[in-house]
Amino acid sequence: MDKIDNQKETKAWKKRNTMRSNASSDGGTQCVQVVVRCRPMDEKESIHAYSRVVDVVPSRGVVEIRNPRYDPSSDNVKVFTFDAVYDGNSSQQELYEETVRPLVSSVLDGFNGTIFAYGQTGTGKTYTMEGSKVEHEKRGIIPRSFEHIFSHIGRSENMQYLVRASYLEIYQEEIRDLLHPDQTLRFELKEKPETGVFVKDLSSTVCKSAAEIQQLMNVGNQNRTIGATNMNEHSSRSHAIFLITIEMGVMGDKGGIRVGRLNLVDLAGSERQSKTGSCGERLKEASKINLSLSALGNVISALVDGKTTHVPYRDSKLTRLLQDSLGGNSKTIMVANIGPASYNYEETLTTLRYANRAKNIKNKPRINEDPKDALLRQYQEEIGRLKEKLAQKGNIQRKKKRPRKKKEDDNSVDSESDADDSRGDDNKSVEADKKLIAEQLKMEKQETESLIERIGDLESKMLCGGKNIIDHTNEQQRALEQKAAEIAERKKREVEMQQKLEDEELTMVGVRETYTTLQQEVDVKSRKLRKCFNKLQALKQELEDVTNDFNRDRRDLEQTQHELMKELKLKYLIIENFIPEEEKSKILSRIQLDEEEDCWILKDSEPSKADVVKRPTSVPDARRPISEYAKIALAMGRGCRYAGENILNLDLDMPSRTTLDYQGPTIAPTIQAALEEALRDEGDIDVDASNVKLRSKSRLQSATRNRPKSVSKVPQYPAPVYPKTRGLVPK
Ligand code: ADP
Ligand code: MG
Repeated sequence: MDKIDNQKETKAWKKRNTMRSNASSDGGTQCVQVVVRCRPMDEKESIHAYSRVVDVVPSRGVVEIRNPRYDPSSDNVKVFTFDAVYDGNSSQQELYEETVRPLVSSVLDGFNGTIFAYGQTGTGKTYTMEGSKVEHEKRGIIPRSFEHIFSHIGRSENMQYLVRASYLEIYQEEIRDLLHPDQTLRFELKEKPETGVFVKDLSSTVCKSAAEIQQLMNVGNQNRTIGATNMNEHSSRSHAIFLITIEMGVMGDKGGIRVGRLNLVDLAGSERQSKTGSCGERLKEASKINLSLSALGNVISALVDGKTTHVPYRDSKLTRLLQDSLGGNSKTIMVANIGPASYNYEETLTTLRYANRAKNIKNKPRINEDPKDALLRQYQEEIGRLKEKLAQKGNIQRKKKRPRKKKEDDNSVDSESDADDSRGDDNKSVEADKKLIAEQLKMEKQETESLIERIGDLESKMLCGGKNIIDHTNEQQRALEQKAAEIAERKKREVEMQQKLEDEELTMVGVRETYTTLQQEVDVKSRKLRKCFNKLQALKQELEDVTNDFNRDRRDLEQTQHELMKELKLKYLIIENFIPEEEKSKILSRIQLDEEEDCWILKDSEPSKADVVKRPTSVPDARRPISEYAKIALAMGRGCRYAGENILNLDLDMPSRTTLDYQGPTIAPTIQAALEEALRDEGDIDVDASNVKLRSKSRLQSATRNRPKSVSKVPQYPAPVYPKTRGLVPK
């Protein structure tokens, strides 16, 4: 009976999913779903009485934003349309039920799903993804999806699931495993044709309940704070990615395993990194953070451009890891978070434009069937093997026990007919035999127990509906959930209809209407014309804004490039002037380009055999040199006092040389030229003392004029002779 049920269930599951797969393989492209969420004014904004520049109209899926610098009377409002929009009053539940639930349900069918939270710091990305830890009603997408997944598993019948979770962070283009005990480790991305891009050696933990997975998340969040000097800054500059992998298969069916992967991404703040004063580390950090987010922007642009054939996924870790989510086989939702206050106008507008572009990315979702590395299958197979082994053990034991009994019986019959003296010996051997058997049995029992334990351990990791999980949800609650889903679906359709209607109003579809009077026709048509004209103006303005934005970005990039060029020149200068030529060539011979990482790495140079210092060879057959005296003493057996005698070996073991002869530094050509100029031979120094003579003569004359005539004889001193000083005294 059970078996028939089982088969029915299997067929139903296969049919359901073949239909889904067909749907997706029939050109089943799906655009990235973009929703905008505007948080309420916070306390600080209310105190400062900032004006509100964002208006959200959920019924039409529209966000309107006003430029606060312009005259409020003028029509300077930009309008954006999205799949859904949520204002400050929207609840976490609304967002989950209407937008997220269908995606998580798809993951439970074997699709890949990704949810990004994008936006400026402080606009509610973390609130949207994680929500409040204390208020249950305000828990975010991540805890709600945990509950959703495990309640689904709990209700399913005849299915087996294996849920695993990983948590990682990308900061400055380095990947950290937030669930690894060693937080200093950095992880690399690898690519395999069958599995795509993955993080090598990333830990993944099997989870059996929503509480367990929540606990993992808390551990990861705690690890995020470790090593971060400023947590706010760190979280606003790093990307946190929570990965859930769900493997599923029909009980007892070895084939048909599916894997759904859910990526929950809290992106770094999208605000522009201020370029002013960025130098050294700061510049490095800014450029790297910009790298992942700007790479995400570039990937989006390339995907929606239509003309671009190359999508730059490889430009950053984030885009490489989430390659499937953008233009791949995944179902993707982007939640763009914005703030309502006027001082955020520029950033809010940038976020809205970014989100608006992302709407056009097309994915081709597809179910992941029979992956080669499914852990569920490995577990199933191992359980099968262990059970077989267990069964074999049972058979052997039964077989063993039976002949032993018979033998014992034979023994008893024989023993009766045996002579009295041989009876004692027999009894002894039987005793020994029994002991041996008892020991064997004990060992086998232990082995069996460990097998059973291993099977139990493996089975406990896999979850079966209604078995391992206590399903708290009764029928009524389930019906309630269904109703909520229906309402959400209807609401979504209403928004779609409304948007379509508005679109049509602007097109010429409605022009062919019948009018009773000519005046009425003129009125209606001029109203339409006005609308169209307004739209044209808005588009023109938009075009201008986008061009300005583009120019600003280009200027920023040029500035960054300039800074980097400066740094590069400095490095070249250092290399040219301070690194000896041989060292440079040594380094050049050791560096190698890491294609994966797109950076240069220094290979470890293998020490040549000549460099390896050998231990000095000792006396043959002895660990250390030993004197003849000690040898004789040992041979004569005079105790071991001489065995370890230390003898000073006077031969020096010269180590091979590891240093270089000193060579004077090569002088930079400019300095050399200056030196040469200074040391240039200018021939003999000629001393011109004629002036000196003259001056001394005139001094003497004046002296004689003032003196009384009686002193007639003046002593003649030799005139001082000064060398001509180059550069100081004119020649
Ligand atoms: P981000 O992660 O984008 O930097 P946070 O999630 O930390 O922003 O949100 C900043 C603050 O705004 C938090 O105190 C958060 O509670 C609050 N907040 C954000 N969004 C909402 C919302 N929709 N409703 C109520 N409070 C919100
Ligand atoms: Mg945050």
